[in-house]
Parts: sequence; C-alpha cells; structure tokens
Amino acid sequence: MTGPQVFRVALDMPLRRVFDYLPPKSPAPPTNAAASGAPSASTPAVSAPAIEPGARVRVPFGRQRLIGIVVEIASSSDLPAERLKPILEVLDSRPILDTPALGLLRWAADYYHHPIGEVISAALPKALRLGASSSSTEERWSATAQGREAHQRGEPKRAPKQRKLLEFLVARDAETAATLTGHVPNWRDAARSLIARGWIGSMEVSPETNDAPSGAQTSGPTLAEEQRSAVEAVGKALNQYGTFVLHGVTGSGKTEVYLQLVERVLTQGRRALVLVPEIGLTPQLVGRFRERFGVPMAVLHSALTDHERLLAWREAFSGRARVVLGTRSAVFAPVPDLGIIIVDEEHDSSFKQHEGGFRYSARDLAVVRAQRADVPVLLGSATPALETLNNVTTSRYARLTLPRRADQAAPPRMALVDLRANAIHAGISTPAIQAMERHLKEDGQVLVFLNRRGYAPTLLCTACGWVAPCSECDARLTVHMSAGRLRCHHCGADGPLPTRCPQCGFAVKPVGQGTERIEETLATLFPGVSLARLDRDVVRKRTDMEEVMRRMASGEARILVGTQMVTKGHDFPNVTLVVVLNADQGLFSTDFRAPERLAQTIVQVAGRAGRGTRPGEVLVQTEFPGHPLLLNLLSEGYDGFARAALEERAQAAWPPFSRLAAVRDSAPTAAAALEFLTEARKLAKAPRSVKLLGPVPAAMAKRAGRHHAQLLVESSDRTALHRFLEAWLPEVEQLHSARRVRWALDVDPIELF
Ligand code: ADP
Ligand code: ZN
Ligand code: ZN
Repeated sequence: MTGPQVFRVALDMPLRRVFDYLPPKSPAPPTNAAASGAPSASTPAVSAPAIEPGARVRVPFGRQRLIGIVVEIASSSDLPAERLKPILEVLDSRPILDTPALGLLRWAADYYHHPIGEVISAALPKALRLGASSSSTEERWSATAQGREAHQRGEPKRAPKQRKLLEFLVARDAETAATLTGHVPNWRDAARSLIARGWIGSMEVSPETNDAPSGAQTSGPTLAEEQRSAVEAVGKALNQYGTFVLHGVTGSGKTEVYLQLVERVLTQGRRALVLVPEIGLTPQLVGRFRERFGVPMAVLHSALTDHERLLAWREAFSGRARVVLGTRSAVFAPVPDLGIIIVDEEHDSSFKQHEGGFRYSARDLAVVRAQRADVPVLLGSATPALETLNNVTTSRYARLTLPRRADQAAPPRMALVDLRANAIHAGISTPAIQAMERHLKEDGQVLVFLNRRGYAPTLLCTACGWVAPCSECDARLTVHMSAGRLRCHHCGADGPLPTRCPQCGFAVKPVGQGTERIEETLATLFPGVSLARLDRDVVRKRTDMEEVMRRMASGEARILVGTQMVTKGHDFPNVTLVVVLNADQGLFSTDFRAPERLAQTIVQVAGRAGRGTRPGEVLVQTEFPGHPLLLNLLSEGYDGFARAALEERAQAAWPPFSRLAAVRDSAPTAAAALEFLTEARKLAKAPRSVKLLGPVPAAMAKRAGRHHAQLLVESSDRTALHRFLEAWLPEVEQLHSARRVRWALDVDPIELF
C-alpha cells in the first residue's frame, strides 16, 4: 500500500523483523509529555506531535498491547492497508533513542545476528520498557474548576472515597502522588472516576534541578612525561574518531590520563562515557571521578534496582550527568554531546555478555559507537587483549605506553618454583614458605593467590574411591569446611558435608586446596601472624571488602589470601611478595584463550604489589617450569608473552587471525542437544571459506541438569562468515528440533568450552 505514513515498530520478541503500524487514530498528546499550566483534564487537545524514530509507542499485537520502539518511518507497507492497525498511544514526545543510538543498535543487531527488538530491549532499563516516563518529572494532582464547583454542591454524594480525595485536592493544590497515597489509601481507583467526570487532573512537572558547576573541582598531580604525551595524543584528536590503547602497568597513572582527558572534554561542554568491569570492585575509580570534577555523574551497574537504574538513565538522558560511568550495558547509555569513551581494563571478560540471547562485547561496541559519533575511544589496560594488540600491529589502533609506575617503584622480580622438585606443604612449596618468612621479617606483607575458593575441590573416600559429585553437573562438589557444606560452584547446589562415605561408610577426607584451606595452612605455618582472605565466600557486601582493605592498609593483616578478586581495582602498597600457588590450569586447557587469561592474571596480581623503594617479588608455582609461555612471560614480560602467543594463534588460525561464531545449545538430554546442532549443520550451505566444526558436547557437558553442546563456525573472511550466518540462521530457527533446546549464537565468543 502507499498513502499515509507507516511506522515500523520493533517489539521485544525473538523475531527477526519489525511490524508496520498506521498513525494513531485521534490526535492525542503523548502521555509523558511534560505539560505545564492547567491540569490535563481541562487541557484542550493539541495537535499530535510528529512521531519520530526512537520514540516508544503502544501497539496492538494479536490480543495483547505491547510497547515498542519506532525504528523507521516509511511511506508504504508490504501489507494491504486494511491489515494495518493504528498505533494506540505515543509514549514519548522526544525519542528516547536518538539517531546515533538507533544506528548503533541496528549495527549490533546485524553484527550479532540478533532480532532488533531484543537488542533494543537489552539497551533500555526495564522501567522504560514497561512505560515509565523518560524524564524525571513528578505527577502533580489538582482539582479542576468544575471539580471545585462540584465539591461546593457536596458531590460526589455516594462515593465517600472519591469525596475525600476531591476534598483533599480542593484544599491543597498540586499534590504529589506520594502525598495522596499517604492521605487517601488506594486513591487511584477513586481518581479514575473523578478524572472521567473532569473534576480532577494531573500534570507532570520537573522537580527542582540545581545546576552543579562544571570543570575541575580539584586539580590532579603534574603529569609525568609519558602521561602528558598520552593526553596530548588523544587530546589533539578530540573531535574525531580514533581508538587509542593505553598500555601501562598497574600504578602507571592510567587513571590520571583518563581524568585529564575527561576534564578537557568537559571544558568543551561535552560529556564522557566511562566503562569499567565491575563497580563493586572499583569503588576507588568512581570516587576519583567524583572528587576530581564535582559535576553530576550517572553511575549504572548491575546491582541497581530497576527504579535506581531508571533514575540513573534519566540523569544521563537529560544531559544533567556530565560523566556517565558504568559496567557492560552502559555502552548503550544515552550521552548527549558525547566527547570521549574510556574503557578501563579493556581485557576484562566481564565486558563480554555471554549469557542470554543477545551476546555482545561492550568493548567492541564502544569502538563502534566512538566511530559513529566521531569521538576518540581509549582502551586502558596493563594487559591488553591479544585482539587489541593485534589491532595495534595492523595500525587500526594507536598504542600509548606508560612504561613506569607513577610512584617510581621498580617492576617486580618474577621467578618460577618447580612444584615437582620441592617439598610441598598443603599446596605451598618450601621456597615459597622461606620467601614469605623473609618478607614478613623485613616488615613486608604477602599476597597469596589461588583461583579457587572453598576449602578443597574434592571430597574423597580413600577406602572405595568415591568422590562427591554434583548430581546436576559434570563436576565435583567443593568442600566448604567452616560452613559445613558441600557446594557446586557451577549450579549452586548446596548440601550438608558428610563425614562418612555414602557408599561404604568409611571416613571421607577433603583433597586439594582452596583459599579457605590455604588460610588454615598459613595460620599453622605462621602462628601469631594475622591473616586476611578475599574471595566471594567472605566478601559479600562492599563493606566486607572495605574491611579487608582497611586491615591490609593499616598493616594489621600481614598475609592476604585471595582469588581473582585480588587482581581487580585495589592496590596493596605494602605487599612486597606475591605467591601464585598454581599457574597450571591455564597451560593445557582446551580453550585457546586460556594462556592469555593466565598471563593476564599473573601480571595483574604481580602489579598489585610494591610501591616506592621496595621492589616486589613474585613467585609462580608450577609443575611445568619449562613451559615456553611461562618462560616468555618471565623473560620479556607481557609484551613478550603476547608476541609469542599471537604467533601461535596465527599458526593455528585462531582469532584474531580468523573469525569465530559459536552456536551453543542446551537440552535435558545430551542427544537432544547434539541433534539440533547436527540438523543445523546439515542445513548449512557454507562457501569454501567458511568452516563448520562440530557439533561437540561442551567440555563440561552437563551443567545445572542440562546438557550443553556447541557448533563452531570459522572463517578468515569476516564478510563471508556474516553473509553465511545471515542466510543460515533464519533456516536454523525453523528447525523443529530448535524448540526442544535453548540455543543462542555467540559472535566472537571469548570462552570455548
Ligand atoms: P593506574 O590507573 O595505571 O593504576 P593511577 O592513575 O591510579 O594508575 O596512578 C597510581 C598512583 O599514582 C595513584 O595514587 C595516583 O594518584 C598516582 N599518580 C598518577 N600519576 C601521577 C603523577 N603524574 N604524579 C604523581 N602521582 C601520580
Ligand atoms: Zn567409600
Ligand atoms: Zn552442579
């Protein structure tokens, strides 16, 4: 059909299409438009504002009414006019997604081959998807002139609750919904009848906003030479796209570089978007931004309630927030007049959304967003991802290096300890114990790293060989001694800790080490030395973390035992010795990225230690002291490791020298999980440049009672890969077996298991 405007609307559903609607029937102003003046009941109907792409609309869909986003306005539809239904309601007078935002989301939908409706939905706070107002206005209720007359006549006579509400509003003008709730319980029912009679009405008013000053509140330190040239390199390209990799060890002053660049952007009257891996672990960074600028900030992270997230989003959307700081999904946050994007710890795997339907890399999307917005993006890390370093090699990204620590500390000395050639006491080698004694005697602190929480990873019966298994996963249960529980770290199963073997009745014993047991061992090895532990079992809230930091900073605790948690955010300036208890998990994994993660972890842990005149020492325990990756890391640092690791990737044609996409699924049975992927593979008409590998069961096939499998699609030709996926996926979706599994596509997967 041709004729009037057709609105293409994206709805939150797993369908690769948009839906056409006609304009709304009667011109009605948007419900959320910030009206001023008289209450709406007495406001004459104004002409309908133009509906722009990016605005929310309520539309009929079958028997439901759904909220969707207008993504396009067309002059014709493939459907005949009589089949099209009109939009029921327009929720936004100003689009909540502007043209660049919609553009980015459409790009993401294409690149990740995911339905646009679900992509948009992932980018918006839940409250907005349910229809909340995009502006932080308050509802204010008043009686109308007719309402006042009616009240004088003593109406409404037979509805005491309505009379009470009307009376209240006649006496007090412009009351908030909250006040009404306090005085007239369930007043909204009564209000409906009064509105219908034109006796009361509401309007939306903006709450008082006080404009905070912009510009620096406190000034930072004088920059070192390398910091200054980094700021200059990005600073002179502020109004154009460029990806810069800020590569500097922990403590080299990366955050200072961020702060100075953000200051320049603020001075221009523009705004900054800062992405961080986990807010809970980096409260220091948020604090430094707040202190430095004293401008309104919006902080978006996963621990917010839906309402808090809405409020933070509004701060960003309205432009009141000058700095928007957040975790992964904040890459979609609205930032008017965006001037720069910063991604801190860009190598961190939490930037990758690897659950649910829409799987994306926030780091990669940040680069795309910067490109589309013509602004620079800064990727900071002590251990940049190999992909990122390869982009430096191919000159797509520019590298800025901060080679020294800002506090003049020398880089730590690193050495390997051969676990096969030394006596081991419950996971700790004699050389490591001697080094700990030495450092403690010299008044240093010690950090012991083990990436496994709990007491022991295995509960074993030495009589019959029984090992406590998780009934829902292909995994053993972890012993948690002080809690007296056996827990599965994969599905959360939790049961009492048995003392006897359920099979033969013999006594069972914990085998292997977790942080809880290492803490116990250290307590017996170093009696009288105060210990602290940092893992998810002991740190449940922010204050727990602060308490550990306080005990370490004051010197009250001398040894800290921790998991991956110690590698993030915090520095331990008085730590002079770091012991990595086991480096070997990363060396022989089936996942080609495991060595990269291992090297990053070692460098990150090592970087937490030492400051000032006390150089740090790092001991890495391993059964493979001759492993080339470890030797490389030791002799040439992360750069040397990265060079060797990239060479290996090139030889094996793994990313970044090829492109990958994984179709992953799970089902109640292993057969069903494989069947779907096998059928999907049969449908594939792949060109010669695109290879399909699998399907194979996942390395840990059974998790939380479901069986997982995956099919890899690989190509050195990105365009060919995406063209293939585009043609193939709609057919895969139609498979009957697809309904018996849960499946998702993961483009550029970072974990292969
Ligand atoms: P990173 O982000 O690389 O870990 P930071 O920016 O946090 O490094 O700097 C580490 C420490 O050194 C901080 O305490 C910071 O205040 C300080 N610092 C950074 N740059 C300078 C400088 N140019 N002069 C003095 N101190 C600095
Ligand atoms: Zn037994
Ligand atoms: Zn389990």
